[in-house]
Amino acid sequence: MDHYEEVTETIIHKKFIKTTCDICGKDIQEENMGSHFNEVTICHEYGQRWQGCQTASKFEPDVCVKCFTEKILPYLKSLGINIEYVDSSY
Ligand SMILES: [Zn+2]
Repeated sequence: MDHYEEVTETIIHKKFIKTTCDICGKDIQEENMGSHFNEVTICHEYGQRWQGCQTASKFEPDVCVKCFTEKILPYLKSLGINIEYVDSSY
């Protein structure tokens, strides 16, 4: 016979609070209020894909616009990357 005891367990789960810049620590959400957006996405992903499945490893740092434009963009340009911003609409 199995015996059971009633216990109350506290389940701890993570609740999203905010995203901060991995360089300066600033709150990134503050720059995206209302209908305007100003976002940075840096991502490198590699892995395997087959028949609709995928396994991958992803490097995706959170970087604020200020750090991107003042630190990363000048570095990319110093490496010889000279692409400019391109307008788009959907
Ligand atoms: Zn930053």
